[in-house]
Amino acid sequence: MTIFPDMVMGILNESILGRAQRANILEVHAHNIRDFSTDRHKKTDDTPFGGGVGMVMTCQPIYDCYTHIKNQIADKGSTRVIYMSPKGTLFNHDTAKRLSEYDNLIFLCGHYEGIDQRVIDMIVDEEISIGDYVVTGGEVPACIVIDAVSRLLDGVLSSKECYEGESVASGLLEYPQYTKPRVFMGREVPEVLVSGDHRKIAEWRLSEAIKITKERRYDLYQKNKHLFEKEEKKR
Ligand code: SAM
Repeated sequence: MTIFPDMVMGILNESILGRAQRANILEVHAHNIRDFSTDRHKKTDDTPFGGGVGMVMTCQPIYDCYTHIKNQIADKGSTRVIYMSPKGTLFNHDTAKRLSEYDNLIFLCGHYEGIDQRVIDMIVDEEISIGDYVVTGGEVPACIVIDAVSRLLDGVLSSKECYEGESVASGLLEYPQYTKPRVFMGREVPEVLVSGDHRKIAEWRLSEAIKITKERRYDLYQKNKHLFEKEEKKR
């Protein structure tokens, strides 16, 4: 639910998610909240009660847009309604995994000063924030969540390995990646990666991942070290 549907579809119709939609693994619809406004000028916002700067998105078009979507998916399994908001719970991989279990996700994208609290209370199941900063609208945040959730769906990436070993999902930040050529402007790729010794390569990748996680995200290292300490000792 957005007042800028082209913004959302412009991002989600490209690349891997565009392909996933064409393969019918994923369906994305951007519903224009403005289409549901009963105001004769199709207004979707108004001045805040109590005064103050900016505009607040009104209840009626959002509620009617939501009802329209709900009716469309009435017999299509479980649904979660998410308001993208800087006041929400910080988004992470565990949330992406949890959301990937639902059949339908409805994202409400705010703009201006935000949305009338009454309609949030009436229709929203949870609020999610993409970080401790404020962006101009909920569209980019919603696309981030949709992207992170969609790539966990079967068939979107070529195999589960594509995301299971990745930064954060594995409990560590990922080791550095290299591709051809072997030498670029005098810089060689680490010798071990061209050794053909798969055990050594795995050891090197794990130790690089641990090093970079300790350096950059000590919190993540502390939280997850039980997951890879055993593996480290085995080697
Ligand atoms: N006045 C609001 C506040 O201080 O909480 C901020 C409104 S913001 C300019 C407009 C919209 O952008 C919000 O309604 C929300 O949908 C979206 N938004 C902004 N920052 C966000 C964030 N960090 N995470 C998720 N959505 C965000």
